[in-house]
Amino acid sequence: MDVKKKNFKVCNDVPGCSDNNQLLGWRSLEIGAIVIDPGNSRVYETGTWRAEQPVWNSDTCIDCMLCWVGCPDTAIKVKDGHMAGIDYFACKGCGICVEQCPTKPNSLVMIPEDTAKELEIPERVKIAFNKE
Ligand code: SF4
Ligand code: SF4
Repeated sequence: MDVKKKNFKVCNDVPGCSDNNQLLGWRSLEIGAIVIDPGNSRVYETGTWRAEQPVWNSDTCIDCMLCWVGCPDTAIKVKDGHMAGIDYFACKGCGICVEQCPTKPNSLVMIPEDTAKELEIPERVKIAFNKE
């Protein structure tokens, strides 16, 4: 059925509708999408989604870049080919980088976002790694 052509606003009589007078369900939408502004994901602050955030300890980091490889949001910062911290604008707090880190103890640790957002980065590092 051509949903667009018929200009349905509610899902009455549309396949996949389980409740009349409700908004269209996903089964009723046309397949496909158009991205008219490629690269626009860079302007979306996905960092607001976090419940926890990774904190980096540069003292124990061996610069292996496994965190960069694993990060699904390109939120590991790189400078001159070396690990340079976390891009908190993009980091969603998934914790994959922490799982990837091979050092013992880990050079990346998750801490609660509520705690972290009140602190400057050096303070976060102190809390995350029990530094004096
Ligand atoms: S927590 Fe997830 S999104 Fe954030 S830096 Fe680590 S891997 Fe990337
Ligand atoms: S995975 Fe750990 S040791 Fe490797 S670059 Fe990232 S923080 Fe450093």
